[in-house]
Amino acid sequence: MQKTSCDVLVIGGGPAGGVSAVTAKMNNPQKKILVVREQEVQLVPCAIPYVFGKTLGCSEKDVSSCAMAEEMGISTMVGKIEDINMQKKIAYCCDNEISFDKLIFATGSTPFVHASLEHSLALQGVFTIAKDKSFIDKLDAYAKDKKEIVIVGSGFIGVEVALEFASKGKNVTVIGGSKHILQNAFDHEIAKQAEELMLEVGVKYIGRDRVTKIIDKNGDGIVNAVELKSTKVVDAEIVILATGYKPNTTLAQKVGVSLGYYGGIWVDEYMRTQNHDVFAVGDCSARRDFITKEPSKVMLASTSSAEGRIAGSSLYGIEYLKGFSGTIAIFSTMVNETAFASAGVTEDQARAANIDIVVGTFSGVNRHPATIPDAHKQFVKLIAMKYGGQIIGGQIMGGLEAGEMINLVGLIIESHYDIYKVMSMQVATQPRLTSAPTSYPLVMASVVIAQKLKNI
Ligand SMILES: Cc1cc2nc3c(=O)[nH]c(=O)nc-3n(C[C@H](O)[C@H](O)[C@H](O)COP(=O)(O)OP(=O)(O)OC[C@H]3O[C@@H](n4cnc5c(N)ncnc54)[C@H](O)[C@@H]3O)c2cc1C
Repeated sequence: MQKTSCDVLVIGGGPAGGVSAVTAKMNNPQKKILVVREQEVQLVPCAIPYVFGKTLGCSEKDVSSCAMAEEMGISTMVGKIEDINMQKKIAYCCDNEISFDKLIFATGSTPFVHASLEHSLALQGVFTIAKDKSFIDKLDAYAKDKKEIVIVGSGFIGVEVALEFASKGKNVTVIGGSKHILQNAFDHEIAKQAEELMLEVGVKYIGRDRVTKIIDKNGDGIVNAVELKSTKVVDAEIVILATGYKPNTTLAQKVGVSLGYYGGIWVDEYMRTQNHDVFAVGDCSARRDFITKEPSKVMLASTSSAEGRIAGSSLYGIEYLKGFSGTIAIFSTMVNETAFASAGVTEDQARAANIDIVVGTFSGVNRHPATIPDAHKQFVKLIAMKYGGQIIGGQIMGGLEAGEMINLVGLIIESHYDIYKVMSMQVATQPRLTSAPTSYPLVMASVVIAQKLKNI
């Protein structure tokens, strides 16, 4: 056994682990920070779908850079931490015994597969989207000479992977439980439009159904179809299960760290476990929703990075007050040339949670005048509290700017801004860059809500 020591041991080199390490070093330059990660090459997880199509085309173009960590003097070790003696503060990785003072679990998440389909993973041609280069390369290589692809799951990962395979001329069918694709993040009228765009490029969607069996008709261990609850059978040379992710807490459980909601590691507001020398960040930690305060299953690189910043600055005392209490579901995606972005709760979710809301929408164009060559239609929907007017959700459909505009909506939600503040918001507008100052969409959707509130 080789003995190594560090002040802060970070387990996992994904977005949460990486940001925790960098923040820890920034705040404690004299401390030795060691990141242990399983894989030599770490992929940018969010861009994995783009490996399969024309956007990136191969996993070598999706490699995460470690340059900043190296420049800062953060040490790394490639290997898997198999065990930890929590009393003695020693972790075991291959032939290494690593002693530490502070520990951060950033062990992420692994694909979730429904128990009834788990055994099908043994069939040739059945895949998940694991955040692992060798796995992604295997799927990419297997798909080269295959035509019929079934994707189970109509969330953003399923849809992004479907669109990329379709761009390479594959016949892709997405199967989902909801009426339209992306319905966890968008209200039906917006999800429907995303779906129509997906259908336009030839991807088929079978909604309100689910896969009950994955079949190898010839009994040769090679997949060739899926059977649905509706008894429909869809031919498939490849089946991709994009049915969500679960917190990777095998190690945490083994060493007695308490778990919270949905199997994530229990943490307080500063990402500390019950033992204040031990932290957990990212997909492996338990979360609750910012608005409803209910347990949340949201797993995002952006949220994970924000948590890494909190943990990294709270290791040796609380340096900054944590700016958020709860996870905002905030994400964006592209369906063909249209961006779809969402933050906070949708109208459907708010109504299901019995939240008293008023909704405002505005349709415009993202340039002014609309004759500017790259102008794109822009649609904004805001969801506000009926009493108080605070904005608790927003959805945007439009050009590339939607990806950043939704971050503004996220800040508005996080800051508990109401529609009246947004109505008088001072914004920068420019013909080639934004919509018109006279009809800035976030402002206009707030105006619509204010009018509705007047009439209640
Ligand atoms: C296809 C895809 C697309 C996505 N797109 C987006 C997007 O557009 N926007 C967005 O915000 N989010 C997106 N996400 C979600 C995002 O990728 C995750 O939320 C994010 O990866 C979580 O980061 P993490 O660091 O917590 O965990 P992970 O990225 O899962 O990293 C955890 C790391 O820890 C390592 N590890 C685990 N156990 C050990 C151990 N015992 N010893 C050593 N190392 C260990 C793992 O090997 C892994 O590398 C996407 C995810 C996928 C799969």
